[in-house]
Amino acid sequence: MMAQNRQRVPVVPPSNKISDYYGTNVFGIKQMKESLAPSVFKKVVEAIDKGSKIDSSTAEEIGSAVKTWALSKGVTHYTHWFQPLTGSTAEKHDSFFDAQAGIEKFKGSALVQQEPDASSFPNGGIRSTFEARGYTAWDPSSPIFIFDKTLCIPTIFVAYTGEALDYKTPLLKSMEAINDAAVEICQLFDRNVRKITPSLGVEQEYFVIDKALYATRPDLVMSGRSVFGHNPARGQQLDDHYFGSIPTRVKDFMMEFEIEALKLGIPVSTRHNEVAPGQFEVAPLFEEINIATDHNQLLMDLMDKAAEKHNLKVLFHEKPFAGVNGSGKHNNWSLITDTGVNLFQPSNSARENLQFLTFLIATVKAVYDYADLLRASIASAGNDFRLGANEAPPAIISVFLGSTLSGILDELEKNGNIKIEKGDNMYMKLGISKIPEIILDNTDRNRTSPFAFTGNKFEFRAVGSQANVAGPMTVLNVIVAETLKNLSKDIEKEMNGGKEKKLAIVNVLRKYIKESKKVRFEGDGYSEEWEKEAEKRGLSNLKSTPFALDTYLDKKSAEVFIKHNVLSSIELHARHEIMLENYIKKVQIESRVMGDLSLNHIIPTAILYQNKLIKNANGLQGLGLDNTAAIDTIKEISRHLESVKSNVIGMTEARKQLNKEENLTKRAKGYSVEVKDMYFEKIRYAVDKLELLVDDESWPLVKYREMLFIK
Ligand code: ADP
Ligand code: MG
Repeated sequence: MMAQNRQRVPVVPPSNKISDYYGTNVFGIKQMKESLAPSVFKKVVEAIDKGSKIDSSTAEEIGSAVKTWALSKGVTHYTHWFQPLTGSTAEKHDSFFDAQAGIEKFKGSALVQQEPDASSFPNGGIRSTFEARGYTAWDPSSPIFIFDKTLCIPTIFVAYTGEALDYKTPLLKSMEAINDAAVEICQLFDRNVRKITPSLGVEQEYFVIDKALYATRPDLVMSGRSVFGHNPARGQQLDDHYFGSIPTRVKDFMMEFEIEALKLGIPVSTRHNEVAPGQFEVAPLFEEINIATDHNQLLMDLMDKAAEKHNLKVLFHEKPFAGVNGSGKHNNWSLITDTGVNLFQPSNSARENLQFLTFLIATVKAVYDYADLLRASIASAGNDFRLGANEAPPAIISVFLGSTLSGILDELEKNGNIKIEKGDNMYMKLGISKIPEIILDNTDRNRTSPFAFTGNKFEFRAVGSQANVAGPMTVLNVIVAETLKNLSKDIEKEMNGGKEKKLAIVNVLRKYIKESKKVRFEGDGYSEEWEKEAEKRGLSNLKSTPFALDTYLDKKSAEVFIKHNVLSSIELHARHEIMLENYIKKVQIESRVMGDLSLNHIIPTAILYQNKLIKNANGLQGLGLDNTAAIDTIKEISRHLESVKSNVIGMTEARKQLNKEENLTKRAKGYSVEVKDMYFEKIRYAVDKLELLVDDESWPLVKYREMLFIK
């Protein structure tokens, strides 16, 4: 087979020293400083730091400098690069060449604002009810870069009426919200703090398979996952056997995209760990949340391109292969002050530890109060196969803190009320003076928690591997901002009641610890007992996307988004609608692929094979030999064939009925319950059984064992 005789495509790094090429495709601070007049440079830095507007003459100068830089690198076209709600990235290319003037031009206005052909992007009804156009506007906080011989200007994408049509706009707004709320709290501890920025490091999991094998599987091509396929050896037994060296071609591919990523200033550190057979991970160092989000989107594009070159295909789907690990993006999130303090880093100073506990407890409380919103923020058709499916972690949102930290919170809750006499060391009495040593010793890392504290950051692991991380990160920022705001108010109340500041803080923290206790879970998050226990605690376990998405429309969610000026009610409704549409489309495609494969490939193949068996059975009988084995198999095949056929017919009928449903929410829920839940497993079960019965040679689909083990 072609896939087995592949030649390597050699990869040569531009230099042995990464510093020679790191960031060379980025028009960042360094390049700006070098090419702009000091006064212009100062304005850009201000715009980046404070989010202030860039005036037209400044834009003119930047445009001209960028153009010169781009032309010197052989780049002839530019584009506004943005993140529409389709989940991918979009761009429209324009040439620098001005035919009228006969020279290359790049106007400041073209840098700052553009009007893409907006009609091809989802808008959730916003543009049809208001104004049919949208525009993109430069986000100076995200550096301009060169991708694929095109100058890319990172932009937001909004309707003319102002509504956001993308992921970046609300993310930037949520950064403002959390900055505002967190600075207020920080000032209780340190007056020097002026700005707080969320940081993000994304661990990206993915599968790699051979391009030719990929092309033979219509289900992978159409839906990103294999809808059929029997796992040769169930579950993780596979691992032991195949773990070890990464195939050379995959290594080449990794090197290829890593070099391109480094040129774009994406801080990938070479690290090649395998998770399941055919599955890998890449984890750049953390950066400011906005940049890290852009970089994750870019990285996925780079990986697609690099894979193509190495005759491979990257699968970003959350569950491309049933029975094998799923893929996620682990979002490592923290808050960092302009004075250089990571607010989730316990320290040697007792005072700073109280600050640390304040932010930690506020985050736990936020996750408890808005667990359903966090769940909604990661809901997608793909992620449903990973969260809440039979073999995957449940869709319950819980927080893991580690036994030591959990113990400290328990102590604080219990003992917080102790009397503090004059001259007492309150921190000592409360048992919070010595956190750092304990935490650093604390190695009980729980891998099964969807939201875990990992020493100096939180790690939101339930995010899907295809997702734009801006969605869940926007929600996380907003709900923590909301909790911090309430915390401020509650502390102020205590202080107005005559409490000393530190005691006021501790009192409020104790209350928050108590109120959010139910969301904390230290045990095995994948166990059945946890599902039962969580139910007893009253925690949600929303297994299906359209049901999880309901939360976007409830009053509590609307209030928090509107209050912090992150999403308006119109925008929320629009997003809800787009997500439902996406969901329906995905399930619809999978269902169609299942039907087509069954009717056109599986059933005919199984019948042909069955005919062979019938001949065989007759032959045996003619010879007067025992033919019961052949007859049993013939019967078994018939049973599965009937099941496939009748279920495909039922599923198609269910789709027809649902397509008549006008209410989008009802239609999406119908697709979840009446199409997916009702038929997918049944059809797959029968087809996978047939795969085992029909002879290997004639089976129409490439099998798991061939796809997962690249040579
Ligand atoms: P794991 O043990 O889960 O594989 P790593 O230590 O490799 O985790 O780190 C995972 C990611 O977390 C990396 O992208 C890393 O840069 C990021 N990270 C580390 N510290 C922080 C922080 N303070 N804020 C955000 N991300 C961080
Ligand atoms: Mg991790």
